[in-house]
Amino acid sequence: MAEFDKRKSADYLENKKKIQELKKRSSGAVDEFFHEKHEEVFSGMDCLECANCCKTISPIITQEDMDALAKHLRISVTQLLKAYIEMDEEGDFVFKQTPCPFLDTDNKCKVYESRPKACKQYPHTNRRKMKQILDLTLQNSLTCPAVWKMLGDFGLLS
Ligand code: SF4
Ligand code: SF4
Repeated sequence: MAEFDKRKSADYLENKKKIQELKKRSSGAVDEFFHEKHEEVFSGMDCLECANCCKTISPIITQEDMDALAKHLRISVTQLLKAYIEMDEEGDFVFKQTPCPFLDTDNKCKVYESRPKACKQYPHTNRRKMKQILDLTLQNSLTCPAVWKMLGDFGLLS
């Protein structure tokens, strides 16, 4: 983490070039690279020692997520919206505050079983058609040390 904090900004331009290079590759090759790296990097990563995503950005929250969260918290969706959720500039529902209101002091998620789908999928590096989200992945390299590490390895394999 200390290395990530020190190098993430300095590596951004280099990673941007790597993303441009990845955009020239086939969709299958991009998926293959990220899926392999996702397994490798996350096998050595403890998210409970990081929680940077929960501390600094909000997931997009769908209606389905709201229903699940409200049920988990035993409150109504209206109460959930009022207490925790707002609409951002792009018209997406997000948590009002960062760090996330459901992040516990030990970095565990207080609503883990009912957390939003976007939380389950973050940082999205094992999804199909990664080529569609390369710009988002570059952005995530400033938040998620796992993504930063994956992009760091790209030059070694290309
Ligand atoms: S709901 Fe849980 S997993 Fe999602 S941002 Fe909040 S603490 Fe993190
Ligand atoms: S930022 Fe990345 S490494 Fe850190 S907790 Fe989130 S998914 Fe895990």
